[in-house]
This record gives sequence, structure tokens and C-alpha cells, in this order.
Amino acid sequence: GQGLMAGKRGLIMGVANNRSIAYGIAKACVDHGAEIALTYQGEAFRKRVEPLAEELGAFVVGHCDVTEMATLDAVFDALKEKWGKIDFVVHAIAFSDKDELTGRYVETTRDNFLRTMDISVYSFTAVAKRAEPLMTDGGSLLTLTYYGAEKVMPHYNVMGVAKAALEASLQYLAVDLGAKNIRVNAISAGPIKTLAASGIGDFRYILKWNEYNSPLKRTVTIEEVGDSGLYFLSDLSRGVTGEVLHVDSGYHVVGMKAVDAPDI
Ligand code: NAD
Repeated sequence: GQGLMAGKRGLIMGVANNRSIAYGIAKACVDHGAEIALTYQGEAFRKRVEPLAEELGAFVVGHCDVTEMATLDAVFDALKEKWGKIDFVVHAIAFSDKDELTGRYVETTRDNFLRTMDISVYSFTAVAKRAEPLMTDGGSLLTLTYYGAEKVMPHYNVMGVAKAALEASLQYLAVDLGAKNIRVNAISAGPIKTLAASGIGDFRYILKWNEYNSPLKRTVTIEEVGDSGLYFLSDLSRGVTGEVLHVDSGYHVVGMKAVDAPDI
């Protein structure tokens, strides 16, 4: 086939529906010639993911819950069986109890802290470990992060702490896997209204705030994150690893934000 991603095969984890960031990346990959595989988390998402896979011509690997290592093992075994090797993996997975994505961070419970770190941080390392032996011609691993890792954002709380750990872990992974020409990067996306985002307190306000304060005066779309994802997943970024790219309408560079937005 033709295109930036021609001849590349990869796994995309985290499609819940057609508003998922993972779907935006999946669409961009397929449009540029990649062959992709998708996982879904449990039966509830199966009926959403299957028609999207059909539309994208994607291989549905099956159920994967990143807290169950046996399901992760099964996914990579199935990919080895089907393709022998892979070129890329997208990890667009995070979770925290919605009751703790509001109010004060200091109230975080130990149980939810550990669960949030397990699903949102450790899972990327667990994925990298299993992808490594299948990336025999080198490869690209991509995860999704948020500015709440760098600066305190209202309501983001334990998820901000998890994203900071995710960004640190990608640097360690970049060093561990670099000798095999496996690159590890992240996109720090601006706020987008997805299923996961709907759990965050005052999310509509956060969207408006970003619209008002970002250099581009708007929020970003999953298509835009998808197109930026192509850079990391293709050979265009072959000299880049350990990087976090902000796809956020430039919001992160603005030091003096407005006191209030007139239309909020
Ligand atoms: P989404 O709800 O569409 O996707 C989240 C995905 O995580 C779902 O597919 C869900 O099935 C999966 N997931 C959760 N727990 C899991 C588990 N135990 N095992 C396997 N899968 C599990 O939301 P999204 O906004 O597209 O989120 C994708 C990524 O983008 C997340 O890492 C999120 O933190 C990040 N992100 C989102 C935004 C935003 O504003 N939406 C901004 C920056 C970063």
C-alpha cells in the first residue's frame, strides 16, 4: 500500500467509542496505510468496538483488562500468531474513581491511588515489556498524557500524579528499549470531551477555559491528536524518543492566563 504508515502493523489499545482519542489515532493510522489491531475492555465495549473495527478493517484481538496480566499475555500471543512481529503500540488507557476526580487531592484513598497507578501507569510498562520481543525491526510505543502531570489542575488530582509517573516511566522505557531501536513517546493532549473525561469535575469549564486561554483560541480534536500521533508512529520521528509532545493548541506555553473567560 501507499502512505506514511504503509507496511506497518500495530496494536491500538483504548478505543471505547468513536470519540476516544485512540479512535482518532486508529483512523489516522489506517488512512495512511497501516494495518491495526484493537482490544476492548469487557463485553460492554465489545459491541462498540466491533463495528469500528469493521469500518477500519482492523483485527479485533479481543478482551483486555490491563489489571489482568493473563489478558495482556493473550493479546500479545495472538499478535505473534497473526503477524509474527509488530511495529507500533498505542496505549490510550487511564482510570481513576470519579469520586476522587473532584475536590481536593489530599483526600485520595490508598485503594484508588494504587488502582489509578496500576491502570494508568504500570500498564504502559507491562505493554512495553510484552511488545519488545515482537518488535524485531524496531518499533514505536506511544502513550497519552496531560498537562496535569506538570502543573496542578483543578479536579485532576491523583490522575495528575499518575501522569507524572507515566511521563517518568516513558523515559526509563526509552533508555531500556533504545538499543533495540524501539522508541517511546507521549502526546500530552489538551482537554477533549471523551468518556474518560466526563468523569472529571467541571470538565465543561475546563474546555471553555482552554478555548479562551490557548494561543490557537480553541480546543483540539481527536483527529488532530491522531495526525500528531502519525509523526511518532511513522519513520518521520525515527530520531526521537523519550519525548512528550503537547497537542493542546499551545495552552502549555501561556504563563499569564486570564482571570476569567467572558463566556463561561
Ligand atoms: P476514553 O474513555 O475514550 O478511553 C479510555 C480507555 O481506557 C477506554 O477505552 C477504556 O476501556 C480504557 N481502560 C480503562 N481502564 C482499563 C483497564 N483496566 N483495562 C483496559 N482498558 C482500560 O477516553 P480518552 O480521553 O480517549 O482517554 C485515552 C487516554 O487519553 C487516557 O490515557 C487519558 O488519560 C488520555 N488523555 C485524555 C484527555 C482528554 O481530555 N480526553 C487529555 C489528555 C490525555
